Amino acid sequence: MSGTASRILLPETAGLDGPALARGLLDWFAGVRRDLPWRRTYDPYHVLVSEIMLQQTQMDRAVAYFERWIARFPDLRSLALASEDEVLRLWEGLGYYNRARSLLAAARELVRTHGGAVPEDDAALRALPGIGPYTAGAVLSVAFNRPEPAVDANVERVLARLTNLELPLSNARAKEFLRTTARALIPQGRARDFNQALMELGALVCLPRNPRCTECPWAESCVARGLGLAGERPVAKPSREILRVNMASGLLLRRGRVFIQKRKPGDVWPGLWEFPGGVLEAGETPEQALVREFGEETDLAVRPLAPVTVVRYSYTRYRVTLHAFYCAADDAAAEPVLREAVDGRFVRPGELADFAFPAGHRRVIAFVLQDPRLKKYLADL
Ligand code: SF4
Repeated sequence: MSGTASRILLPETAGLDGPALARGLLDWFAGVRRDLPWRRTYDPYHVLVSEIMLQQTQMDRAVAYFERWIARFPDLRSLALASEDEVLRLWEGLGYYNRARSLLAAARELVRTHGGAVPEDDAALRALPGIGPYTAGAVLSVAFNRPEPAVDANVERVLARLTNLELPLSNARAKEFLRTTARALIPQGRARDFNQALMELGALVCLPRNPRCTECPWAESCVARGLGLAGERPVAKPSREILRVNMASGLLLRRGRVFIQKRKPGDVWPGLWEFPGGVLEAGETPEQALVREFGEETDLAVRPLAPVTVVRYSYTRYRVTLHAFYCAADDAAAEPVLREAVDGRFVRPGELADFAFPAGHRRVIAFVLQDPRLKKYLADL
């Protein structure tokens, strides 16, 4: 039964002329290839860092982060010696902080088990934290020129259109089909260039919404384009519900400083710093939520002094509205008790740049540092 379903649902790839497709793609790539810092040496560590940064980050945006990272951590050994705080600070703004934590853990593991070198081995790579089939394939092909597929979201989209795949990309059989197809298309001795070219085709030409088929080296062979279905491939998966959340956070001011705390392991954004606060409960105003959350998280009774700003940001499927307030403790001598954090301290506003915060709180800080009221509040408290 499943064999019959496979024949119906999976496209036929036997008709694809692999060598001709590879030639066309590589010629096209030679003309558009961007000069990127990790392409200058193909040092395996550079490739590993770039591949992890490029998950969920645009290439142009990753370049500055990559250069800063390599300047500070030129190899796995220097990274392995870093603190998590420093790693998160360098990563701040890229989001998806587990990538940074995993990279640090992988560096420590490779120093311990592989003499500080990136292994040329699929199983050893995939045993590392944060490295799945895509990253392992990208490192093996781009750094070592091994004929392994590197199937990211761009490549999935291109191949789903090229073959007119009628299954959503979340389907396990679709994933396996795309990996098999990507592997079969790699020309001998050219894995490094071919895989990068394929990713670049997805990033620059075979765009999610409006594929630029007239500029595509595969236009003549593309089945979805031939059928007028390019805009309908890949097949959409059912969309997830968007959740709207209201939150309140307080900047507790005392003797020229503001209180910050560090989130626990296992929380959302573990290891990042924040201003205490949380989600509004039904019927609560932001001020009421702030007072309640501060009490629950620090045992302090606080009173809001004034709204700071309201910022809106997205996190996975959440659309967050964050209300930030300046606040003061009723008992100016009482120390916060850390109920929901692993560390906490009062810092001067100018020191906030030394700590890694989630994006919403970082935007609050940017506002606060420009706010003329802050000086007055700090002088009064
Ligand atoms: S022809 Fe169009 S849809 Fe097909 S691979 Fe090229 S850009 Fe994508």
